[in-house]
Amino acid sequence: MLLHNAPLFEIYFGSAKDELPRKLELTLNQPPEIPLLQLEPFSNLKKMMPLEQLLFVRQVHGTDGLVVTQENAEDAQPFAQDGDYLSTNVPGVGIGVLTADCLPIVFYDSRQGAASVIHAGWRGSVAGIACIALEQMQQEFDTKLENIKVFFGPSAKPCCYEVSQDFVQHLDPYPFAQDVLISQADKLFFDVPGFNRHILESIGVRKESFRFEYNLCTICDDTFCSYRREGQLAGSQMTVICLK
Ligand SMILES: [Zn+2]
Repeated sequence: MLLHNAPLFEIYFGSAKDELPRKLELTLNQPPEIPLLQLEPFSNLKKMMPLEQLLFVRQVHGTDGLVVTQENAEDAQPFAQDGDYLSTNVPGVGIGVLTADCLPIVFYDSRQGAASVIHAGWRGSVAGIACIALEQMQQEFDTKLENIKVFFGPSAKPCCYEVSQDFVQHLDPYPFAQDVLISQADKLFFDVPGFNRHILESIGVRKESFRFEYNLCTICDDTFCSYRREGQLAGSQMTVICLK
């Protein structure tokens, strides 16, 4: 578990210690009957973050998302709609994603007091979900790129994330493809966080906006859940941001 505690926001990067068992995830494909913040492991989060509400979407490796504002916060339910990112400017509303090797990305806009959390596997990444979520923040919250901080959470990293030769075609549209594919001893590895850094830089996010200290490798660090390492039975960890 890693906690980034700043004066105006807090980010929780979970680990296998508070993993969501596969079974619980499956039962969460609709809004739970009791409030999420009364359910473990979410209830423990409330002790660490000023949460009044906690929202997730049903992740589908797509590029849609949920924007939570003062107008719709009261009606918003966890796991009530499909999507792969959430954004908000409402203090006390925790927004989160569940991952096991996919990359959790968090945006924080210090000027407008707004945040997003993104589930970026390779599919969402190549479909440009990071840029789509950021453009949404620009539209909804008047976010300016120079005020953005980008936090990458624990994910599969190029030390371990092997891909097939066929995978390369997915990166064809991107001029930086060769920088995020690493060849080693006849094997090919994909750099998901590197890809997302490049694609965000290509729309104008500054180099100094990126924070990599929480981007540990979920495959070789067994304190995290990993689909690659544990297979179908793998649970997942949560990444949650809450504005204060
Ligand atoms: Zn690794």
